[in-house]
Amino acid sequence: MADFQTSLDEHFPGSLPAKAYLDAVGELLIPRGFTAGRTLPLLSICRDELTHDLHPLVEGRWGLAFTLAGLGAIPALGRTGWDAGLSHIPGGNGERGRLLVFGFPHIGIEEDGSIGVTIRSGQSHPTSTCGALTAVLRAIQSDEVPTSVDVDDYEASKLTQRLADLEPRPTTLVELTIAALDAMEADLWAAIDDFRVWEQADVAMCCGVQINAHGERDWIWPRDTWVAGENGTRERLAL
Ligand SMILES: [Zn+2]
Repeated sequence: MADFQTSLDEHFPGSLPAKAYLDAVGELLIPRGFTAGRTLPLLSICRDELTHDLHPLVEGRWGLAFTLAGLGAIPALGRTGWDAGLSHIPGGNGERGRLLVFGFPHIGIEEDGSIGVTIRSGQSHPTSTCGALTAVLRAIQSDEVPTSVDVDDYEASKLTQRLADLEPRPTTLVELTIAALDAMEADLWAAIDDFRVWEQADVAMCCGVQINAHGERDWIWPRDTWVAGENGTRERLAL
């Protein structure tokens, strides 16, 4: 019979409970100078309340985090938002700061192994997790991708457009979630390289998928860990 662990191992092998994941990130990056007080954490996660347990786990280690994303975890803050966030990096006066970026689209896996749903606290029926990515998948499958950004539905229409032209076209929520991870990571690096952040601060980027298990327990599928130093060259680290 299917269960949470079987689904997790099948689709996101090597996932860690969120706390264990952040402990491992700390062990890897603190010796590289990513210490509290010297580091600005950025979080690119979905608006869903289920994702927000990551805030205290990150902020307890590295201090208050600037948030980048709206629906679906893809950065939605625009140039002005990036400009504001990046101006908060500690350092200056010849001392290099540190920028620590976390990015995770999310997906629910229930106790019975069902993918893409969560029975939330106080509710008796499952709802979609991630609801925004589920709506994008529906729009892609029914060829109802908006042709322009809707100012009254800004985040969803922009997210759908961002994910609509993917090749190969995602057919399942797991495939779309991983495609969203690819797009998110590309957009994060594009902004960091545009602003040439690495000229003033070492950059670390930790990206994967946040898995919301029943009972508000979070797991992280740790796909990518990168650092970039003074000249912007990226080095992939093994977590
Ligand atoms: Zn979501």
